[in-house]
Amino acid sequence: MRWRDQRESDNIEDRRSQSGSELGTRIPIGGKGRVVLFIVVLIAGYYGVDLTGLLNSDVIDLNSTPQNSAEYAVDDPQAAKFTSVILASTEDYWSQDFKRLGKTYIPPKLVLYTGSTQTSCGTGQTFMGPFYCSVDKTVYLDTSFYQEMKQRLGGGGDFAQGYVIAHEIGHHVQNLLGTFNQLKQFKQYSDVSDNQLSVKLELQADCYAGLWGNAVQKQNLLEVGDIEQALNTTEAIGDDRLQRQRDGYVVPDSFTHGTSKQRYAWFKKGFDSGSIEQCDTFTE
Ligand SMILES: [Zn+2]
Repeated sequence: MRWRDQRESDNIEDRRSQSGSELGTRIPIGGKGRVVLFIVVLIAGYYGVDLTGLLNSDVIDLNSTPQNSAEYAVDDPQAAKFTSVILASTEDYWSQDFKRLGKTYIPPKLVLYTGSTQTSCGTGQTFMGPFYCSVDKTVYLDTSFYQEMKQRLGGGGDFAQGYVIAHEIGHHVQNLLGTFNQLKQFKQYSDVSDNQLSVKLELQADCYAGLWGNAVQKQNLLEVGDIEQALNTTEAIGDDRLQRQRDGYVVPDSFTHGTSKQRYAWFKKGFDSGSIEQCDTFTE
C-alpha cells in the first residue's frame, strides 16, 4: 500500500513513552446500580479472552486474565506514522459517507501504547489486541500488534494492518450510528445469545473495513498482493481457525467474531460493493 505521502491524522495520541503500571485496579463504569451498555471490542479472541460477559457489565476486571509475556516492539516512529495515515484515511472516507447519509462524522481518538494503559473501559493491555472503547470513543493499539500479525496472524502487510485499524474504526461507526443501542432492543425481542450478537457486530465491522479498503483502492493506493494479504488476515483470525490452533477443536457456540469464511466474506462484500447498505449483518 502506498501510504507514505498521505495525510496524517490529528486525532492520535502516542503514549508509548509512558509505561503502564497501575494493573490490578478495578474500574467501575457508570455506577449507581444502573447497567451501562459498554463494549470492548477486540479484533480477535485469539488469546482465549472472552469479554462477551462485559457487554452488560458495569465493572470490568481484566486482571483475572493471564497476561501474555509479550515482547514489546521499540517505539517505532514508522508505526505511529503509518497508523496516523490509516486513521486519516478512515476519517476522510467516513466523513464523506456520513455526509451522504445526512449525518456528521465525529472522528474517534486513537491511542498508541506499550504494555498497558488506562482507558474509560478499564486497563488496556497488550494481550487484548487492538480494541475500541465506546465510552471514551477511542481506539487503543499497542504497536507490538503489528509484529504479532507478521509472526502469527496471516503474515501482515501494511494493507492488512490497515484492515485491523479500519475494523476498530468500524466499531466507532456502529457507536455513532446507534447500532449498540439497537442491539439492546434487538436482544429483547429475539433469543439470540450474546455471542451471536457479538459475531454480527464483528462481521459488520469487517464489512465496514472493506468499505475503507474500497476507498483506498479508488485512490490507487493499493499495490500487488495487498488485497490477498488483507483477505488472508481475515481468514487467519476467524474463531474456528484460532480455536483449532489453540485447542485442537472448535466450539461454534463460543464464537464471538465469526468463522474465517464469514470474516473473509464480509470484508470482501464491503470491499467489492463500497456501499454501507451492503453491510447489514443483522438481517442476513
Ligand atoms: Zn471487532
